[in-house]
Parts: sequence; structure tokens; C-alpha cells
Amino acid sequence: MTSIELSTPSTGKYTQPTGLFINNEFVKGVEGKTFETINPSTEEVICSVHEATDKDVDVAVAAARKAYDTVWRKETPENRGKLLVKLADLFEKNIDILAAVETLDNGKALSMAKGADVPMAAGCLRYYGGWADKIEGKVIDTNPDTFTYTRQEPIGVCGQIIPWNFPLLMWAWKIGPAIATGNVVVLKSAEQTPLSALVAASLVKEAGFPPGVINIISGFGKTAGAAISSHMDIDKVAFTGSTVVGRQVMKAAAGSNLKKVTLELGGKSPNIVFNDADIENAISWVNFGIFFNHGQCCCAGSRVYVQSGIYDNFVERFKARALQNKVGDPFGEDTFQGPQVSQLQYDRIMGYIQEGKKAGAKVETGGERHGDKGYFIQPTIFSNVTEDMKIMQEEIFGPVCSIAKFETEEEIIATGNNSTYGLAAAIHTTNLNTALRVANSIHAGTVWVNSYNLLHHQVPFGGYKESGIGRELGEAALANYTQTKSVSIRLGDALFG
Ligand code: ADP
Repeated sequence: MTSIELSTPSTGKYTQPTGLFINNEFVKGVEGKTFETINPSTEEVICSVHEATDKDVDVAVAAARKAYDTVWRKETPENRGKLLVKLADLFEKNIDILAAVETLDNGKALSMAKGADVPMAAGCLRYYGGWADKIEGKVIDTNPDTFTYTRQEPIGVCGQIIPWNFPLLMWAWKIGPAIATGNVVVLKSAEQTPLSALVAASLVKEAGFPPGVINIISGFGKTAGAAISSHMDIDKVAFTGSTVVGRQVMKAAAGSNLKKVTLELGGKSPNIVFNDADIENAISWVNFGIFFNHGQCCCAGSRVYVQSGIYDNFVERFKARALQNKVGDPFGEDTFQGPQVSQLQYDRIMGYIQEGKKAGAKVETGGERHGDKGYFIQPTIFSNVTEDMKIMQEEIFGPVCSIAKFETEEEIIATGNNSTYGLAAAIHTTNLNTALRVANSIHAGTVWVNSYNLLHHQVPFGGYKESGIGRELGEAALANYTQTKSVSIRLGDALFG
């Protein structure tokens, strides 16, 4: 059996694929292993899926390599683009089931899955479909007797390892640019959330991709993930996840075939509110910046710095705003915050909350479990947090916000940059000069002004410092999946007699 009948509260019954998607078919793993995936709202098992081990990675890589050598290299850019656009259309057509499965397996609010994850995934696939026939080289004039041109060639077989916080969106961010540029992929979903990736895999076949071009496997990091990053026949690995694991992926790549590596890792992003900010607006973006997706965003605005003139007022009103975030059943219509994804994440976050309390930060609101079933945590705001506290330095990946006061612009640029991470930052001010000066001085791959989390497939996203290597999205991501070949043709006489 490589599928099972399941049901979601919003769609009723549906057929959930459970196999490994290799060569356009759902198959069992070579070793016949399976693992369970848990509904984070109820802590109950949803179903079991087939588990890939290193042997299945070998099978998937062989399928991908064959597809690359025999079919995909010969495909026209125009057709690659058409297939991606078709896949985007199918994402939109199947939005109800994709969003429902995302909510079931991940716990994110259905309104978010439907309003953001699935449409953004479709938008990303369509955008890269548009790029497929616009990958161009250059002609370089070196001298009249030589004709030199460059080609942007695909890298080949790409291993892609994605996390559980945006299962479908990360699927699209990885597959879009890789396929547009002519690569083939073996993508491993996160073990906490394998289901939506498999529903999306069934759309790959329906869109008409040749077998082996896109392979999707479920499995664990230490086995299947490690097999991808150390594989001798994978030419490139793209990873999104924690910085700790990012280092391991890079080491494995370095210790095997020196495959190309791009990493999108963690963050501890500063969200800076100046005295002159439109305070209501700032509160709403700060709230969204930390509590969107239950704080499970690598770019979450988890360090909030408020200038002294408005600090007390801001904290009071932000607290009131956070209390309005409806926490509960992610299938509920007005739910903003569902459960954390797993027991492990729940425990980690509660551990940080205890740390914060012990260290002497003030709990303005939250700080406890919500309800008695499921991995729900109250939106939590700590004030009076100092730079040396763990809750100000380490990525919590949950609905926990640390606030501190600052006095001057100079001071906040230094404090804002006081992190080993550099993924994102935001500035709230009505002074354009302040906004631009600070934006230019912050060491982060993305800076938002008077907003937060404005991710868009046309705009590059990625990290400074230990937040990553390479950029996803936009034209920039094409560079992750192409290599430049220079061809020089001698037109004149022999150069050296
Ligand atoms: P988190 O801590 O948020 O769960 P991880 O970085 O552990 O994030 O996981 C992100 C992805 O990396 C998942 O798909 C996971 O299976 C995978 N992964 C975990 N450990 C390894 C590893 N050693 N090598 C390769 N991939 C891994």
C-alpha cells in the first residue's frame, strides 16, 4: 500500500499518498521501513509513511541521473517553463486539499495555509516557470581573432532538504529555480511533516514531468538527509533548516564530492521601533513579525528593541494586541495561532521560557501552555531582556518575543548587529533618513521598513553571517542552480606560430 484514505475537517475524505515518489511512482522503501506522522493539535498519529534510507536515496539519485542524461538535458527551456506553470496551476486548483493537509500535519492555521502558503508556493513555481527560457549567457569580446561566449548550464542532480515550518512553500522555493534552470531533483521533506509534499508529488505526475525529474522522499535527517549531503552522485545540495545541521551538511559535502552547497539557516532578527514610529502600525507588524506561523519562521522578529520615549506605552499596547491573537484549533475560522509542530519543539520552547523567567526577564503575557492537549503555547512576551540572556541571543523558533529598550540610533545599530545571525531585520520610523541609514547599517540579508515578513518570490531572501550561504527567490536564486561555462573559439591564425 502506498496510499491511505484520510479525512480533514475542511475537505472530508481524500487519498493520501504515503510512498516514496521516485520515477513518477509512489513506491515502498527498499528496506520496507515506515514512520508515523503526528497531528500536533491532538498529539494523535495521522498515518504512517514509507521511510527512505540511504538505499532509497541511491535509487532516487539513479532515477534522477538517468532522467537528466536521457531526457531532461534535451528538453527545451520553453517546455521546462510550461511544465512549471502547469504545476503552479495544479497547486491553485488543488488549494483546498493542499492547505488542509498542511494544517493537519503541521498545525498552522488553515486561513494562513490557504491565504499564504499555497498561493505563494504556486506563485513561486509560476515565477520560475517564467525564468526557464530567459537563462542567458554572454558574448565577451577579448580580441578580434577570438569568439568567446558563456553558457549558464545546469549543475545536474540536486539534493534538496527542507524543514517542517513551511513544507509546501519550501518545496516550491527549492523545486522552482532548480527545475527552471534544467536540473533534476531529489527532495527530502522533514520527518515531522511529510504529507503535503507527497500530495504535491502527485501533481508533478499530473503536470506531465518526465519520470525521474522530480523525486520526493520522506525520511529522517540523520539517515536520508545525511545520505543526500554525502552522496557522490549528487552535484549540489540545497538545505533549509537549523544552523547546527547546516554545518553538518556542509561538512558532509566537503568530505564527499565537494558538491555545491547553499544554506538557508536560522536567525534572531532585530525588530527596531523608533520614538517617531506610527505606533499602532508598528505594534501590528511587530505582532505579526514574531507570532506569524507560531514563531516558527527563520526570519521571525524575535528581538524587539523599542526606543525609550515610547517603551512603556509600546509594551502595554503590544501586550494587549498579542492577547487578541486567537490560539486554538488550526481548522477554526478565526484561529491565528495553532500548535507548535512537535513535542520536541514544544519542549525546547518551554525550556527557553523557563530560562527567560529564571534569568529575571519580566513575563508581560503568556509563558505557559495553552489548553491541555496538543502542542499549544501562549503567545509570550518578555520585557526588560538584557543582551546576555539566552532568550535574546538564541533562536527559540516559537511564539516568544524578547523586548529591550534603547536610546540612540548609533547604539541600536551596534545592538541590532550583536548576533551571530544575519537573516532579517525591521525598522519602524516615520523618518526616511533614519530608515535608510539603519537599513544600510544592519548586517542582514533582508530589511523591512514599517512592515515585517513581506516575502515575495521576486525578491531575494537569504542570510548574512551564520544565517546562510546563497540567496533564494528572485533572479538571485538562479545562480544557486547554474554553473558558467566559457567557450572560446579561435578565428584567426595560430597564436604561437
Ligand atoms: P529543526 O531543528 O528545525 O527540526 P533541522 O535542521 O533539524 O531543523 O531539520 C531540517 C531538515 O534537515 C529536515 O528535513 C531534517 O530531516 C534534515 N536533517 C536533520 N539532520 C540532518 C543531517 N545530519 N543531515 C542532513 N539533513 C538533516
